[in-house]
Amino acid sequence: MALAELWVGVQELLWPTRCVVCELPGELLCERCRGELPWIDQSLACPVCGAPFGALTCTECKSDWPTRSCVCALPFAGAGAQMATALKDGHELRLAPILAAAIATALDEASAWPARDGIPRFDIAATDALCYVPATREAYLRRGFDHMELVTRELSWLLALPVADVLVREEGADQRTLSRLERARNLEGTVGLIGSVEGLNLLLVDDVITTGASVCACAKALLGGGAQSVSACALARVW
Ligand SMILES: [Zn+2]
Ligand SMILES: [Zn+2]
Repeated sequence: MALAELWVGVQELLWPTRCVVCELPGELLCERCRGELPWIDQSLACPVCGAPFGALTCTECKSDWPTRSCVCALPFAGAGAQMATALKDGHELRLAPILAAAIATALDEASAWPARDGIPRFDIAATDALCYVPATREAYLRRGFDHMELVTRELSWLLALPVADVLVREEGADQRTLSRLERARNLEGTVGLIGSVEGLNLLLVDDVITTGASVCACAKALLGGGAQSVSACALARVW
C-alpha cells in the first residue's frame, strides 16, 4: 500500500468522513441530504442576480448588473451554507467536485430559461471559458489555497470548458469587516486583469453571492478588458 493511501486510511479511522449537512458518517454529502437539496427553481429565479424569487420583479437587484445572467444553485441557508462554509472555512477540499456538480446541475436547468436578452441564461455552446472570483492575497495566505480555483477546475472538467485564469485581487481591506457600500468601493479598485479576454464569452464562478459586489467588480474588469459577455454562477445566494 502506498504511503499516501495508508495515511488516508489512518485519517479515516481517526476522523471519519461525515456528511457536512447532517454529520452522518460515510460520505461528505450523504444520499439523503443529496436528495433533499433545496434547489433554487430557475423558472422563478431572477435572471440578472440569481435571487430565488426575482423572475418577475426582483428586490435584490435593479437589473443593473454588468453580468448577462446569473445562476445560483441553492439558497445560502441550511445545506447550501454548510457546503460553502465547509469548503472555504472548514478546508474540506474534497467538497470541490460536489460543489462543482451542484453548480453544473443548476446551469443545466437554467439553460431552459431565458435571460433578459431572450437568450438562455446558460448556453454551453456559446461559452468560451470559465473565470472565477479570486481570493484576496490575505485569504489565500490564511487558507493556503484558493477554494474557487479548485471548484472552477472541477467545473471546467465537468463542462469541458477551459479556465481563463486572468483575474487577480490586489491588496484591499477584508470584505467581511465592511459595509455594503464600502464593499463595492473596496472591490472596484482591487480586481485586476492579467491576461487577454478580448472577444470571449465568459462564465464567472463564485461560491456565495451576497450583494453581488465581488461578481460585479470581476465582470466589470473582464468587460473592461474586452470580453464580449460575462455570465455568472454560484453555489449559493444569500436571500
Ligand atoms: Zn447528510
Ligand atoms: Zn435580481
